[in-house]
Amino acid sequence: MNAQFEAEVVETEQITASSRSIRFSRPEGFSYIAGQFIMLELESLGAEDKIAKIAKPLSLSSSPTEDLLEVTKRLTGHEFSNAVLSLKEGDLIRFSGPYGSFTFQGEHEKIAMLSGGIGITPLRSMIKYCSDRGLTADIVLFYSNRAEDDIPFGDEFESLKEKNQKLTIINTLTRPGPAWKGRTGRIDAAMISGTMADYQERVFFTSGPKKMVQAMQLALQELNIPASRIRKEYFPGYD
Ligand SMILES: Cc1cc2nc3c(=O)[nH]c(=O)nc-3n(C[C@H](O)[C@H](O)[C@H](O)COP(=O)(O)OP(=O)(O)OC[C@H]3O[C@@H](n4cnc5c(N)ncnc54)[C@H](O)[C@@H]3O)c2cc1C
Repeated sequence: MNAQFEAEVVETEQITASSRSIRFSRPEGFSYIAGQFIMLELESLGAEDKIAKIAKPLSLSSSPTEDLLEVTKRLTGHEFSNAVLSLKEGDLIRFSGPYGSFTFQGEHEKIAMLSGGIGITPLRSMIKYCSDRGLTADIVLFYSNRAEDDIPFGDEFESLKEKNQKLTIINTLTRPGPAWKGRTGRIDAAMISGTMADYQERVFFTSGPKKMVQAMQLALQELNIPASRIRKEYFPGYD
């Protein structure tokens, strides 16, 4: 049974039009590995204005190297999302954890990450961790988003590339504006094999809404990547 914790919200930030980060104090005794998630319990005004408790899994987008804990929620207008949106500085939150084995702390020499939108949260934790620790793991992130202004952690990744020479970011947009000069379209087998000559040597990490992760799994099967080299984390609730 994982421990229950209470923490104080320190800051909230709308990081893109559709995603919001909540940063909170790290309670004494709480430690985690990059990529793990917590069960966040929030109160929401339910039917007949009764206060109801809802607990949902959220990956920690923060890295164990950072002082604060952070979760980043895609805003959907649904009950849990609205409860996240209403959090403000000074609020107390409860959570349990850490949970999960979708983790990375440098144990493979070469990895590739396949992600879209909010699926980036555990991967941001891993990328930040490896960069802060100066690890030599070679990381290629394929990152699919809708448009230029909706890339969670996009600017941060650009600056992390300066610090971490082993980090490559391949952004692709599905609805780019006219000024976009980068890649377009979804991540697929051709994009993976055409961009990364050594793709057969890598361990793959893919996380996000179920449809996205399933599509990535199919693409990797097409490339004959064995299941033993594919790590997955599904985010239900978006399909
Ligand atoms: C390991 C793991 C890690 C995750 N990490 C993240 C993360 O980092 N960031 C993140 O954003 N999400 C993450 N998720 C998903 C998250 O837990 C939620 O399931 C998801 O965000 C959906 O929450 P919600 O607020 O949209 O909807 P909820 O209020 O939880 O509702 C879930 C679903 O119920 C239905 N629903 C709810 N209310 C209504 C309504 N009024 N009308 C119609 N339908 C309704 C909708 O289909 C909705 O999508 C993670 C999930 C897992 C398992």
